[in-house]
Amino acid sequence: MKNKNRKKEKDMAERITGHTELIGLMAYPIRHSSSPTMHNEAFAYLGLDYAYLAFEVDNDALEDSIKGLRALRMAGANISMPNKAAVIQYLDRLSPAAELCGAVNTIVNDNGVLTGHNTDGIGYMQSLKDNNIDVLGKKMTIVGSGGAATAIQVQAALDGVAEMSIFNIKDKFWKNAEATIQKINERTECKVALYDLADLDKLKEEIADSYLFTNATGMGMKPLEGQTYIPDKSFFRPDLIVTDVVYSPSETAMLKMAKEVGCKTMNGMGMILFQGAAAFEMWTGKKMPIEHMKKVLDIKYD
Ligand code: NAD
Repeated sequence: MKNKNRKKEKDMAERITGHTELIGLMAYPIRHSSSPTMHNEAFAYLGLDYAYLAFEVDNDALEDSIKGLRALRMAGANISMPNKAAVIQYLDRLSPAAELCGAVNTIVNDNGVLTGHNTDGIGYMQSLKDNNIDVLGKKMTIVGSGGAATAIQVQAALDGVAEMSIFNIKDKFWKNAEATIQKINERTECKVALYDLADLDKLKEEIADSYLFTNATGMGMKPLEGQTYIPDKSFFRPDLIVTDVVYSPSETAMLKMAKEVGCKTMNGMGMILFQGAAAFEMWTGKKMPIEHMKKVLDIKYD
């Protein structure tokens, strides 16, 4: 163990130089994040002169942190909760997806001009593609209207999903769903509708008419681990694709049920990898070594 740590320290000492560019992750809490491991592994693998560090930054420290990013000429940053919406006021430009989501998870510093992007939806759509799932021109049903769901809905509509049925419980996120639908209808060709998740007959009907169904809520992970709002297997059919944004546990109760029916399934690990890969490419101009990263992060499709 001691020798292993020594080797790591030596690698680090050789890798970080006076030229190394810094990329930060600004969120709170953030110490548990897998993003530093993912990006630093990819930089080392490709021999790119960047370092990625996590900073505990909440809303109160955000303005100073973005000023710091500019002053230090950092290459960019990832932004996570609670800063995804609050950071917008400190940036110069937004990508179309970030503007439609009203949330930023990636900042690119282009010679002092800071552009906010949202790569969560890109990550989800790319993970489908990587798993040979083609939802473009087709209909999907999605549950959720929080951060992850909105990013997926916006990107799916921008990319060319033909029709989308959104379900949510009538909680504080319902307003979000209404706003997202209005923006998608105004700005894309996607036909989108919103339903109450309490209407299970409608949920069954919309799933039956869809190519793909996805959970984009925290249902299935702690504290709701082992639970699903899908009442029984009759909601699924073998040629339905069923995906979940939850990555821990790797198989939610919903995915387990879908597998038992014979559906092709996918959990949220691919979304994490590909949201990171999209940001990585924006900062470095290089593709993330996806197959290597899948081994490092232990990502396997069913
Ligand atoms: P959020 O707090 O912004 O949204 C929560 C959503 O869950 C809302 O739509 C809310 O109405 C819904 N919800 C809450 N309780 C519910 C219940 N009992 N039944 C049905 N719906 C309920 O959260 P978020 O940031 O969008 O995260 C949602 C999930 O997505 C989390 O599990 C998170 O880990 C995961 N996530 C995954 C990735 C990834 O890359 N795979 C990225 C972001 C988030």
